[in-house]
Amino acid sequence: MSSGTERSAFRIFVAAISVAILLSFTVMSVVMSLRAEAMIRQVELERARSIFGTLVLARRWNAGYGGVWVPKTAGVESNPWLVDPDVETAAGVFTKRNPALMTREISEIATTRTGFRFHITSLEPLNPGNAPDAFEREALGEFELRLTDEDWRVEELDGEPTFRFMGALLTEQSCLACHEVQGYKVGDVRGGISVSFPIGAMEAARIRDLRLALGTSGALGLGLVVLFLALVRALRRKLDELRRELREQAVIDPLTGLHNRRWLMERLAEEFAKSRRTNQSLSLAIGDLDWFKLVNDQLGHPAGDAALKALACILREGVRPYDLVARFGGEEFIVVLPATDPAGAMALCERLRVAVEGTLATRAGFTGRRITISFGVAARLESDEIPDALLARADAALYRAKSAGRNRVESAAEPGPPRRDGPDRD
Ligand code: GH3
Ligand code: MG
Ligand code: MG
Repeated sequence: MSSGTERSAFRIFVAAISVAILLSFTVMSVVMSLRAEAMIRQVELERARSIFGTLVLARRWNAGYGGVWVPKTAGVESNPWLVDPDVETAAGVFTKRNPALMTREISEIATTRTGFRFHITSLEPLNPGNAPDAFEREALGEFELRLTDEDWRVEELDGEPTFRFMGALLTEQSCLACHEVQGYKVGDVRGGISVSFPIGAMEAARIRDLRLALGTSGALGLGLVVLFLALVRALRRKLDELRRELREQAVIDPLTGLHNRRWLMERLAEEFAKSRRTNQSLSLAIGDLDWFKLVNDQLGHPAGDAALKALACILREGVRPYDLVARFGGEEFIVVLPATDPAGAMALCERLRVAVEGTLATRAGFTGRRITISFGVAARLESDEIPDALLARADAALYRAKSAGRNRVESAAEPGPPRRDGPDRD
């Protein structure tokens, strides 16, 4: 997978997790709020049922006596829907309160004192004042069809959210005294009583809680997303760092700390292209320690290692900041000298050779011994197409330096065919 594709796949993954966190928090708070709403409705329904039940009991009590007589004092009207509603006694005039009028009068007290409203209603009311409204008519229709004997809903009434309940009124024996003329039998649905009460304060609290829940869960979800993103970011940074380290380790020689052949070949190709583009010279030198096998044989392999480390230091210190130094393999080292002509390269390598001859053994901790190096130097030619050709010519020059007695710097005077054993020679 390319790093671009990997990056965008990773971004999609991070975005998906973030959306999932936010979504689950939102869904959770909405579900909780719906549950709370259902519970509130249940409480309101139980409340309405209990009020309805109490009213039915009071009506049954009233009907059981065939109506109840009350003193006809000032302001007490007679029931115009009854035949002979008043009676004169020694104690004064009394007027009859049947269940319907009693319900209406209780309703009036309840509305002014408690905010509850009752309404006795039927599809064929004796009193037009008991005609049903839309909700009541719908509920009565369902009662008539025997689909249910109660109904409820929340609706705006006089600009306020109101819980409305409607219970069916079934015809009882005591009701027939007034209602038999309408053709009702015991058990028939004769109408219903609606119970309505405002729930504005409760609804406002519920909406406030919903907003609070949404806000809190949104903030929590957002916090989690931020935490997740920070974690992902930190992990990514660590991963990039490890990747960089790995990449770096792959091109570093563990013994000397110099770059290795792989790195050198990549950089050499770049320097070649740059030199061609800028039309500047480019030189390269291969250095190989003289009689190094003997150093190993006589002083031991660890001593040979120490010599290689010391050589790496001398080479690094002896070149310019923009020159490239690498361990090419064994005790063979390469120095790439950008913007340097053959004469400059020869002079630099000569300085390196002198430094090795004069200080390497001491720096490696050997006494009474001298370790030298030979260099083969070549400069990029116009005709040179590939870095390997330049390496081969430098290697050929090194071969000549060795043949000419070692501890020398030889220049590749002319391009020639690459040597058989090539640049990998140890
Ligand atoms: P010449 O002057 O012709 O170069 O002779 P030489 O003895 O140096 O011969 P050659 O270059 O063929 O020998 C390379 C030796 O370098 C052989 C090997 O034992 C030694 N060598 C290669 N890598 C290492 C290393 O990492 N540590 C040590 N101590 N020795 C190494
Ligand atoms: Mg050697
Ligand atoms: Mg060698």
